[in-house]
Amino acid sequence: MTSSFSNLSLAEPLARAVAEMGYESMTPIQAQAIPVVLTGQDVMGAAQTGTGKTAAFSLPLLQRLLKHESSSTSPARHPVRALVLLPTRELADQVAQQIALYAKYTKLRSTVVFGGMDMKPQTIELKKGVEVLVATPGRLLDHIEAKNAVLNQVEYVVLDEADRMLDIGFLPDLQRILSYLPKQRTTLLFSATFSPEIKRLASSYLQNPITIEVARPNETASTVEQRFYSANDDDKRRAIHQVLKTRGLKQAFIFVNSKLGCARLARSLEREGLKTAALHGDKSQDERLKALEAFKSGEVDLLVCTDVAARGLDIKDVPAVFNFDVPFNAEDYVHRIGRTGRAGASGLAVTLVSGSDARLVADIEKLIKKKIELEAIEYAEDQPRGRINDGRRAWREADEAGDGRDALSAGPRREREREHRGGRESREPREQHRGFRPAVASRDPFFEKPYEASAAADATPAWEAAKSAQRSSISANIKPKRKVAALFKAALPETSV
Ligand code: AMP
Repeated sequence: MTSSFSNLSLAEPLARAVAEMGYESMTPIQAQAIPVVLTGQDVMGAAQTGTGKTAAFSLPLLQRLLKHESSSTSPARHPVRALVLLPTRELADQVAQQIALYAKYTKLRSTVVFGGMDMKPQTIELKKGVEVLVATPGRLLDHIEAKNAVLNQVEYVVLDEADRMLDIGFLPDLQRILSYLPKQRTTLLFSATFSPEIKRLASSYLQNPITIEVARPNETASTVEQRFYSANDDDKRRAIHQVLKTRGLKQAFIFVNSKLGCARLARSLEREGLKTAALHGDKSQDERLKALEAFKSGEVDLLVCTDVAARGLDIKDVPAVFNFDVPFNAEDYVHRIGRTGRAGASGLAVTLVSGSDARLVADIEKLIKKKIELEAIEYAEDQPRGRINDGRRAWREADEAGDGRDALSAGPRREREREHRGGRESREPREQHRGFRPAVASRDPFFEKPYEASAAADATPAWEAAKSAQRSSISANIKPKRKVAALFKAALPETSV
């Protein structure tokens, strides 16, 4: 199979756009999917965001839609011909931006609609007429009900990140949307896994699909140093302080399993002198962008996030990733730590494991096919004990109030509750993934640019500045166990180990 775009016979406007993007050869999913989609067959693809999947479906889809190109200004000449459904606003936005780039030299129009934003500007775009509509399910249904979107001329539908859509509880919405589409159409389904639910969805809505699979997300980069520390919930923040300090880390992502936990941890760390921002599903789009920008510019050192919120972020090469909570889903472990150690750069992934996490750790072990060694940390005396105790009280209070797990982990029930509380807009969940992520020109350099430490990021870390008077030697913080000593070796001068 060829891996060069030039052998695909793409129409000139598409080939030009691809050349402009700087793509030299096709990624594996592109090499496999593009020729199939060009024939109009249904596809069931196992591939994650970051594999070049968007181009894999959108280039052939645009090529097939070229026959409908029209320079007419009449909306009637621009009915929706292709519908791309994604689980979150960030993913939808990212995919729509890519499609707009691929289609820029054609007369085909594209737009995106997702929740959490005013419907009016989206309505104006829809009313003008678009051939390619990228959408999250909830908001699309809003537009369908408002008669802003008519889908009876759709020829192609893409169910992207289908597993996430089902996890979040979008199945009823998907079924409704699909019921509005013509039966005669091409359906492309992409999912990280082919779970029984995904297979059921495929058997209901795809016709003789060609199955395409690329590398499964169970491989962790060898450049990531993976550490698992046992830590009680009460000690986890101290563990973070400790590792940041002993490793001389300036910036990191910290993953948690719940929205409430996310907000609370960010507040606690901030109180303890670390410049921290929280990123979770209840944050507005604007707040998320601001948090991200602050992290990128070095104004913020720690970004505490849930899996769902973090999937929307295309930040790469973060120096370290902490799993404050062991993820419920082992694949999320791979996604989380994939944020660090990219492109040969070394990265650190620290997972804090409490007594009740044994099963989750076993799941990770199984997925990454590596034996996990739990290590211990002994804490320095200068850790912010008093504040930690305050935090402990806050944890207890929150436990009494019930936790706030993200929609993804809590499943459809919670999602429905949220929908009930806040109307359909609030049902738009939030997230996405990664995997192969080639360095390329992109329209939104903010999201696409690999992580680069800013000038501010090179400055003395806040925790160092705050505690320089109390600095203690590293060896005093560590239990005299060989494997733990080995852990910090890299960060220490030879003589101090
Ligand atoms: P995706 O998986 O579609 O989100 O793509 C991930 C990133 O890979 C995006 O920044 C794309 O612009 C980029 N990309 C897609 N295809 C190629 C390619 N053939 N060569 C280089 N980069 C690519």
